[in-house]
Amino acid sequence: MSRILIVEDEVAIADLEKDYLELSGFDVEIENDGASGLARALAEEFDLFILDLMLPEVDGFEICRQIREKKNIPILMVSAKKDDIDKIRGLGLGADDYVTKPFSPSELVARVKAHLARYERLIGSNIVENDIVEIRGIRIDKTARRVWVNGEEKQFTTKEFDLLTFLAENPNHVFTKEELFREIWDMESIGDIATVTVHIKKIREKIELNTNKPQYIETIWGVGYRFKL
Ligand code: CA
Repeated sequence: MSRILIVEDEVAIADLEKDYLELSGFDVEIENDGASGLARALAEEFDLFILDLMLPEVDGFEICRQIREKKNIPILMVSAKKDDIDKIRGLGLGADDYVTKPFSPSELVARVKAHLARYERLIGSNIVENDIVEIRGIRIDKTARRVWVNGEEKQFTTKEFDLLTFLAENPNHVFTKEELFREIWDMESIGDIATVTVHIKKIREKIELNTNKPQYIETIWGVGYRFKL
């Protein structure tokens, strides 16, 4: 649940905002003066701030400026005067939106939702995505070590996975069995290049529609294998 802090000295307005936001499923806290609002904004975790501009002790300009030094969550500024909003914009304090009193509570809720959604997208875009290799219906998630063939997940052993991934990442390149053995198995491994043939066969059984006419891993007679692009 998203947590919102309202800093507003007019108790009736603060309560109205709180009621509407709570009806929309938000967790809402109120502070009625600038000093405690600022202290709380910096000390606690919130997802969005609604800041009145004219406040006792510390005004909305100063609160906005200080929050921005520490946090990048959305800030909605509320003011009774249109002129003030132009002033805030001019100061470039980093507020995300400006609302003039009187405003309809449902408009405030709509703006809160829009800013939270936008912020979540922004955060989401920083998430490191899995490393994916995708070629003609084969999807290899290198991070999760999972493989899908035309949307259906298939199970591979460690070496089968490594071999398939290596070939798929180097399409159209012909590798000899010796090269593949060196690449996937370390030299101390028990086995020989026949191991490569066995593994290619196993992989084909999982990815090819017809193993006699491979569409993905092609045999180049007398040379080795290549992953067709
Ligand atoms: Ca005020």
